Amino acid sequence: MPLTIDEALDKLRELISPAQQQPEKVAVAEALNMVIAQDTFSPIAVPGFANSAMDGYAVRHSDLQGDQTRLAVQGESLAGHPYNGTLAKASAVRIFTGAALPEGADTIIIQENTSRPSANSVLINGNSKAFAYVRNLGHDIAQGSLLLEKGTSLRPFELAAATTSGLTHVNVAPKLRIGVFATGDELKAPGTPLETGEIYESNRVAIISLLQNLPVEITNLGILPDNALATQNALTEAALNHDALITSGGVSVGDADFVRDAIETLGAVDFWRLNLRPGKPFAFGHINTATTDQATKKCLIFGLPGNPVSTIVTLLLLVKPALWHMAGASDAEQSLRQNAVRVPLAQPTAHSLGRHEYQRGRLEYSEGLTRVHTTSDQSSNRLQSFRTANCLFLLPGDVAELTEGDLVEVLPFSGLV
Ligand code: AMP
Ligand code: MG
Repeated sequence: MPLTIDEALDKLRELISPAQQQPEKVAVAEALNMVIAQDTFSPIAVPGFANSAMDGYAVRHSDLQGDQTRLAVQGESLAGHPYNGTLAKASAVRIFTGAALPEGADTIIIQENTSRPSANSVLINGNSKAFAYVRNLGHDIAQGSLLLEKGTSLRPFELAAATTSGLTHVNVAPKLRIGVFATGDELKAPGTPLETGEIYESNRVAIISLLQNLPVEITNLGILPDNALATQNALTEAALNHDALITSGGVSVGDADFVRDAIETLGAVDFWRLNLRPGKPFAFGHINTATTDQATKKCLIFGLPGNPVSTIVTLLLLVKPALWHMAGASDAEQSLRQNAVRVPLAQPTAHSLGRHEYQRGRLEYSEGLTRVHTTSDQSSNRLQSFRTANCLFLLPGDVAELTEGDLVEVLPFSGLV
């Protein structure tokens, strides 16, 4: 029985253990998309001193009386240039956003609620809440608090948080070493003329580009011929110095499909075939490699179907979450559906009963409603089905005919890619 996408994801999570290599110390600015290897705490409080959230006047709240209070202006506090004295009774210090709160002050009066009758006095209009517009010490990050949890993949937000806490380096899981092969006698690189029956190879560039936001170091391993021995030899060699291999093509049931047999010979196929369109012949397995101390190690291998759309869809739906898991990312990073939305179909859509099908679609917002449109012919060889697409949407196996307005699960590319 072919696996559903959910069963396949569960199996991948069960079969793949996060890589166990020693963490690496990298500069924060170099750590985008890397996975934090250990809980990391903030060495300092942010901000490290009470300061003003607005331009205005720092006062002592108990000095304010009724509708109007006149206070003496005793000095000023600017960002980076604090006022060094203590606030005297019935006085105010002119203050600007980010400037340190002078000692003795507890409240900020925003500039808009003041006037200056003279150079050395200020009139406060109305009353104000005590402690208004004061950012307390540690208001953003408390000293010693958990800043980056183990398993977090570092987005620009986390890099900024690490930097504001004064960290120069973070400990991350090393990048996964991934090797990418295309397979097929018909494949040529652009730049060479095509003989009859040949096509330009396009899957490697798609795979490699789609993996750019993962913590991976990718080797482009070229195009394999449709030959059993050549396939075995190339996979054996590549398995020695990669954590995982990704191939495209050669996993179906044709006479020229050698990848699955090669995996079976060199290790094992853990599962093959999915109830998924496009992507049915997807294979996952491992290749056993012997290290110098004779301990058996294994290199994972994802055998993607060769049709360009199937390659891309299975890479997005299965390989990316599997690699995040392997890189040590926590569940949130692996969940395929964390960015899923339910959206009405813009047109009636039919497909074969029993098959889970992900179509390429376009989310479009108009007249207060977002709907999902199909992008024409959805054949798995047609890269043009991605033209204008900004999402995948699921036609579930248990319904053959969907009508306009039916809600479907949509995976926006902004969450997938
Ligand atoms: P296969 O899975 O090897 O039978 O390939 C299925 C289809 O995808 C065939 O039409 C292949 O020519 C095509 N194909 C396989 N690999 C690639 C590739 N790397 N680039 C473009 N088309 C491919
Ligand atoms: Mg082939």
